[in-house]
Amino acid sequence: MDIEDLDLPELAPGWVWLAGAGPGDPGLLTALALRALAQADAVVYDALVDGRVLALAAKGAELIHAGKRGGRPSPEQADISRRLVALARAGRRVLRLKGGDPCVFGRGGEEALALARAGIPFRIVPGITAGTGGLAYAGIPATHRDTNAALTFITGHTAGGEVPANLDWRAIARGSPVLVIYMGLTHLGPIAELLIDAGRPAEEPVAVISHATTPRQRVLETTLARVAAEAAAAAMEPPAVIVIGENVRFRAELAWFAADAEATVLPDLPAGGG
Ligand code: SAH
Repeated sequence: MDIEDLDLPELAPGWVWLAGAGPGDPGLLTALALRALAQADAVVYDALVDGRVLALAAKGAELIHAGKRGGRPSPEQADISRRLVALARAGRRVLRLKGGDPCVFGRGGEEALALARAGIPFRIVPGITAGTGGLAYAGIPATHRDTNAALTFITGHTAGGEVPANLDWRAIARGSPVLVIYMGLTHLGPIAELLIDAGRPAEEPVAVISHATTPRQRVLETTLARVAAEAAAAAMEPPAVIVIGENVRFRAELAWFAADAEATVLPDLPAGGG
């Protein structure tokens, strides 16, 4: 059986597929996202979408950059939604491609609502979110029976750029043994303080994973008390996810991914490929 036998749906003219591109490594695309890349004649993509993924778009497809990267000017969300509607109405096969999963801190819901309200047919193609894919490539299991029966994804800043004030940080600190913070580099200091004030141990292990799953991946291991200073000293860059919790310790044994491909140590495979 090969991928053609899966009988995947077509990205038909007049449709929009709202798809996740995963955190970076093109190998983490879904079969549906790959198919959409092959069939779309308009690809509207965000800054976080890896260049190696975009390179998979069909020859002749129009690639439209939709911005959205902290700090830099970017089109208004309403403009992006209007653009998607206009492209679909013009009979294009539209792929709206976002980093990670479109509906995890990705405004996929807002765009899907705009399409639904305009009567445009659409499909949502989930992707591997940085909060799980990035952890896997850092050798940190998102859950482990010895450490956590719950996992919380948090955004480190609001649309206005502030630390989210509408979160119950005390409840989060007490209730979730593992926290994964997206968009958290800017406010690492205040966030770590909030968590320590709420009872998290100052020495709790923390990992900052930057450019996860790409050749530029870097992982900083530190503690809650020191993370802000050390991330600044190490010049950790966005995009980065921050993992707070005991399962960071598994990295000591599980850090399998060497960002520099040359340095990857391949295991000896049994003859015949198993
Ligand atoms: N929809 C995306 C998240 C978009 S918000 C997803 O599901 O992954 C942008 C944030 O995602 C970044 O600030 C960072 O916290 C995280 N992120 C996305 N790609 C990343 C990567 N390759 N490495 C580390 N963090 C990443």
